[in-house]
Amino acid sequence: MILLDGKKLRDLTMDQLKSEVSDSLAGSAAPKPQLAIIQVGDLSESNSYISQKKLFAEKIGAIVLHKKFEAKVSEADLIQEINRLNLDNNIHGIIVQLPIPEGLSKHKIIDTIEPIKDVDGLTAINLKKLSANHASMILPATVLGVLSILKHYEIQIDGKKAVIVGRSMLVGKPLALALLNENATVTVCHRHTKNLKEETKLADILIVAAGSAHLITKDYVRKGQVVVDVGINFGQKTETDAKKTATIYKPENEITKKKMVGDVDFEAVKDIVSAISPVPGGIGPMTVASLFQNLVRVWKTQSEA
Ligand code: NAD
Repeated sequence: MILLDGKKLRDLTMDQLKSEVSDSLAGSAAPKPQLAIIQVGDLSESNSYISQKKLFAEKIGAIVLHKKFEAKVSEADLIQEINRLNLDNNIHGIIVQLPIPEGLSKHKIIDTIEPIKDVDGLTAINLKKLSANHASMILPATVLGVLSILKHYEIQIDGKKAVIVGRSMLVGKPLALALLNENATVTVCHRHTKNLKEETKLADILIVAAGSAHLITKDYVRKGQVVVDVGINFGQKTETDAKKTATIYKPENEITKKKMVGDVDFEAVKDIVSAISPVPGGIGPMTVASLFQNLVRVWKTQSEA
């Protein structure tokens, strides 16, 4: 079994981006790549994801501008702030940390982001470019993370049968389009799919983004499959686990007290399939790296303009 190691590839990507940024800045007066993160509210999971993004930025010589709003902020105020960031030449990428509170229109807010600064690739314009397989599209970070890890481990996508579990706008749907663009034959499963097991077993490449802990057990896979687990689910950690994690990630935050598990029961399927991404250490780290790949790309484009 091949372990699709997202941490390892994240670190490789980090080194590549660090060199790219310093090479581009050498002898130039151009500003460093800068990402604006808009956060609404104070979800501990969001706080943790933002910390990871800040850390990654620091490592590659980029800057993160963290704009944190109270949960009761108005849609108009958020839109005004995004419009201001759109016009700021020192800001190259803008993301809205999801989820945002109900009552705010996610689509309206995200679509305010100038498409060239949309490094999460979630604006309507970028999603349309993805469906048209247009060269200027910006892939959503998680989707780019999945494609990058498959390509890094030389897993052929062209002509293969890919089955995705999950049809969200954030992961499942854009991933289906991206895999179609790579010439896979794609099936998308969801809560209304009858006989999920039969569908998942047909896959050459099975990608699970359902948000349901250990949904995929040994009965859902067959020999020779490649399995990519996008799911992130939290349960309580054992005390020993929590102590161990707290020594690795400091300062300790809410997320470190809970055990993170994927949508796939890794232990149950690892000896059946031919390759699998773990949780943690798979697509999570790749998503952060991919976000900054997008940032560095649009920074270069904007610097040349
Ligand atoms: P979502 O809740 O918006 O969508 C879940 C999808 O899965 C839905 O289409 C639903 O129909 C389907 N689904 C749920 N349970 C199912 C079941 N039992 N059988 C069949 N289909 C089922 O979630 P999302 O935003 O797409 O995220 C999915 C998971 O991926 C979550 O665990 C999330 O935390 C994780 N995620 C991880 C990353 C990362 O960087 N690794 C990024 C984004 C999302």
